[in-house]
Amino acid sequence: MGPKIQKILASLVMCPVCMQPLGETEHACCQWCWQRLQLPQKTRCPQCAIEVTFDGLCGECLSQPPYFDYSYCLSDFDWPYAALIKKFKYQKQRSLAKLFAQQMWLQFSDYSYDVEQFVFVPMHWWKKHRRGFNQSQALCQYLSQFSQIPTDALFKSTFQTKSLAQLNAKQRQIALIKRFSLRAKPKLKHIVLIDDVMTTGATLNCLSKQLKAAGVQRVGVWLIARTAKPNKTGT
Ligand SMILES: [Zn+2]
Ligand SMILES: [Zn+2]
Repeated sequence: MGPKIQKILASLVMCPVCMQPLGETEHACCQWCWQRLQLPQKTRCPQCAIEVTFDGLCGECLSQPPYFDYSYCLSDFDWPYAALIKKFKYQKQRSLAKLFAQQMWLQFSDYSYDVEQFVFVPMHWWKKHRRGFNQSQALCQYLSQFSQIPTDALFKSTFQTKSLAQLNAKQRQIALIKRFSLRAKPKLKHIVLIDDVMTTGATLNCLSKQLKAAGVQRVGVWLIARTAKPNKTGT
């Protein structure tokens, strides 16, 4: 293929964020959007990544620590990430997975030196069929590509319960335990769970609890976004 044709083809590829021609870039979006997506880091709780006003654990992690040891996120669930995540999940914009994973790897790779595996949140086959893909799995696939750290489907989703939003906290916990189960005991020390958004952290906590019970020593969480104010109905 001649360079001229290559150039024409490149001009046809669109930036998944602004829908303008991608142009020459090593990123999964155009240079302009890439700059816009680099947000200043906030002070966050090291365990659950919620924004805090002082260095140290948030009140919730102090009183009821989750089973995961640490969390990193790119942003709050806010502009511009919130809109992009909605596009990613509900308009099936799979191309955004590469962009998010690229950003995650850029920002979190410093903390990855002894991570042995990325693990995604499983999705019931019916939900996956309806949505077209599992967003957590798509992020894992790209992160594995960038990092050479393998991804494994450690969990299976066995139950399709009612929407968790309809349940109270106790019912939700029971529903989650029924929903997710380990396929096999991982013989690993350090695992990172990958997800798009953490709200209450109930799902990630449920998975972490099972990993810890199976002997995993360190469980981390990498996210695109963290909801600033956890409401009690999310996952
Ligand atoms: Zn763009
Ligand atoms: Zn916290």
